[in-house]
Formats: sequence, structure tokens, C-alpha cells
Amino acid sequence: MRAVIALGSNLGRRLENLQGALDELFDAPGVTFVAVSPVYETDPVGGPEQGPYLNAVVIAETVLDPRTLLDRVQSIEIAFGRERKERWGPRTLDLDLIMVGTHISDDPELTLPHPRAHERAFVLVPWVRADPAAVLPGHGPVADLLAGLDQSGVRLRTDLVLEPPV
Ligand code: AMP
Repeated sequence: MRAVIALGSNLGRRLENLQGALDELFDAPGVTFVAVSPVYETDPVGGPEQGPYLNAVVIAETVLDPRTLLDRVQSIEIAFGRERKERWGPRTLDLDLIMVGTHISDDPELTLPHPRAHERAFVLVPWVRADPAAVLPGHGPVADLLAGLDQSGVRLRTDLVLEPPV
């Protein structure tokens, strides 16, 4: 199955947090690297006053069921010292499952596809760069979704690059 995972960080060493998460994600069986997007610096959407994020999207092939994949990304978040003091507040690392194959779920513990992905330029802009043919199940081609979104808060950082996992 194709899995799409969004990475974000706006605290600490942001690029290192993203690279560490990417490396950890593939450092166990069941998840194979396909592609990683360029890195974008993005204005926070909602929440309290906080600094800009670095965002990227990773594309994987996985044989894990979505719950197991969620467990893995959540343990990576914890390993990076993420604190959940405030909803929508700043975080060292945020990992969201955007889609996992054709799975559809409205479970609040794991909603698939991610319920806000279709309206988030900070997810869709990097995703379409990693996979120009990307389609968000239930919503259509990502390139079409982006045509209706304000992308002004999403800036390419060509000086920052995520390496494929070793
Ligand atoms: P957040 O603090 O915004 O990262 O939200 C984390 C919470 O969202 C966790 O309790 C997850 O169980 C839940 N959640 C629901 N759907 C998803 C998803 N597609 N990806 C990641 N977390 C999810």
C-alpha cells in the first residue's frame, strides 16, 4: 500500500527533527521509502502565536496496517520529545498519516484520509512535488485541490534538503 506521511516541526532544530523522524520511520521492517518532498517553510495555521514550521511529505510503501503505522509515528513523536501542552501549539515534531492505501476511517483515533489534508497547502504543496500524480482519496487530484488554495504561506527552502533514509 502507498502511505503518505506529513512531517512538521517548529521548535528546536527543525530540519534535524524532520530528518531524524524520516530515518526512524524506515528503520524497522514493513515500511519502504519511495520519495521525500523538498522542504518548505510555512506560516502556522490557527493555534496560538508561534514560529514558522518546516514541512515536508514522505511517500512510502507499507505492509503495515494503518493502526500499526500510527503507533510507529506516535512513538517517533514521543522520542523527539514532543509535548502536547496545547492543541495546535508549537511542536518539535508532528507526524500525520495523510492516507494509507484505500483505507477510509472516521475513527477519531485514526481518521483516514486525514480530515484536514485537502485544505492544507502546507501538506498538498510538498506532496505534489514528491508525486505530481498524487490523488487524495475522496477528494481527487492534489494538483486540482491546490488550484483553489492560498499558497502564499508556503515557501520553498532550497537551502534545506532532507536526505533519503540510510
Ligand atoms: P495532533 O496533535 O494534531 O497531531 O493530533 C494527534 C491525534 O490525532 C492523535 O490522538 C491521533 O490518534 C489522532 N489522529 C486521527 N487521525 C490521524 C491521522 N490520520 N494521523 C495522525 N493522527 C491522527
